[in-house]
Amino acid sequence: MSTTSTLVRDSSGTASGTERAAEIPLYVISTHKVRDRAGKPPYRWIPYGIEHAWQPGTQRTLCGQWTAGWTVFWERRFSATPSTACHGCVEASLPDESRRRLDPIHTV
Ligand SMILES: [Zn+2]
Repeated sequence: MSTTSTLVRDSSGTASGTERAAEIPLYVISTHKVRDRAGKPPYRWIPYGIEHAWQPGTQRTLCGQWTAGWTVFWERRFSATPSTACHGCVEASLPDESRRRLDPIHTV
């Protein structure tokens, strides 16, 4: 009988598992936030620049960037719709079947 613990916390940033449940929500995360001054006060915070996808419990965006110091927008689910959505995250969030239709995106 193995006594190996399966409750190892992933503190090194390496992948703790290969399977990703389809129902895990993805939230918007960005390097900066700005006040949305389009409405009335109190102004809400909105992502500034590229919107990346982030899964709670992880330390990286779906496209593999470290999220230390980034802002999570808990009220926003990541969506591929906005033009500001990160292409790498969009691709990574797609199901395998639809991802195969896409060419790899090489951004500089
Ligand atoms: Zn990204």
